[in-house]
Amino acid sequence: MAIPYRCPNCKTNRSRFNFIQQVPAYMKIHPETGEIIEEYTSENLEAYHFKYSGPQYKLQCGTCGSIGEEQSFAAFGSMNQP
Ligand SMILES: [Zn+2]
Repeated sequence: MAIPYRCPNCKTNRSRFNFIQQVPAYMKIHPETGEIIEEYTSENLEAYHFKYSGPQYKLQCGTCGSIGEEQSFAAFGSMNQP
């Protein structure tokens, strides 16, 4: 389903957007050194390791560079024109 978007920051851009994929990299790091000990995929993630549940992508305005949630761009896009 296509949704009209509009940037809530500059309020003028309705056609140029950067879709930024949110791809989690699951890893276990050493608590003192920060060194990566183990990397996981969402399939072999340990039971107590919280799985990413945020949005699939964020949007960046192609005019002013503002980055935000897709919902806020969609909400602004469906509002009546100024
Ligand atoms: Zn903008």
